[in-house]
Amino acid sequence: MDFEGRVALVTGGGQGIGASIALRLARGGACVAVSDINPANASETVKAIQAIGGKAIALRADVSSQADAEKMAEDAVTGLGGLHILVNNAGITRDRLLLRMTEEDWDSVMAVNLKGAFNSTKAAVKVMSKNRYGRIVNIASIVGLTGNPGQANYSASKAGLIGFTKTVAREFASRDVTCNAIAPGFIDTAMTRALPDKARESLIARIPLGRLGTAEDVAEAAAFLASDAAGYITGHVLSVNGGMSM
Ligand code: NAP
Repeated sequence: MDFEGRVALVTGGGQGIGASIALRLARGGACVAVSDINPANASETVKAIQAIGGKAIALRADVSSQADAEKMAEDAVTGLGGLHILVNNAGITRDRLLLRMTEEDWDSVMAVNLKGAFNSTKAAVKVMSKNRYGRIVNIASIVGLTGNPGQANYSASKAGLIGFTKTVAREFASRDVTCNAIAPGFIDTAMTRALPDKARESLIARIPLGRLGTAEDVAEAAAFLASDAAGYITGHVLSVNGGMSM
């Protein structure tokens, strides 16, 4: 996939899936704005991109703030000369069974996972729409499709993100801006590393491909949806889950 001449913005790009996506797009020739709430981590991803001869800048933004998201998109355009690809990857969990879930658990997850995608998309799509080209990839989750005990807030945010994806796809199709979602299954990152060994083993037993996914598995799917090759795909939810749900 050739991203030569394309500028990509990846939120939550300081580690995990976001860092792998940023690296993958850079490996394909994209200039990448790596955004994260933690600027030190964003700089680490930028260093990794520079080490393979790529071009990248680090940005600090809390995507739950509309002002931060607007500045992030502006800085990507100013710093790298355009904005063609947005990957809404920043996400958090605050897992608890519903009766123990606090208002803060609910609000914080919605603010980052759902409002964050709204804020970043609104800021970026202005540029894409004007230029009549854009690729937006939203990182949802298998639990946005299936639900999961202990994740009422998280699964609702990811189901909301899927509805958001389809609406953006419809609103901006006439401008050649596509919007798709990826629904990863269980991916081996900091988010899932806290799982006890027993829970991990029973999860793997439910995955036909017999292993947890890697951040690179998700990055390959994101690169495809962000590429010109996916130009006739919009409003789609692509499962990357080893067959865990079919
Ligand atoms: P991760 O390792 O925790 O990475 C998420 C990144 O987002 C971190 O760098 C985090 O920074 C950053 N972030 C958190 N809040 C932010 C905010 N308000 N603004 C900007 N950046 C923020 O998680 P991951 O596993 O790579 O997950 C990436 C995405 O994939 C998430 O949307 C997640 O829901 C989704 N996903 C993951 C899995 C999985 O199994 N891992 C499965 C399905 C979907 P700090 O950590 O420094 O705060």
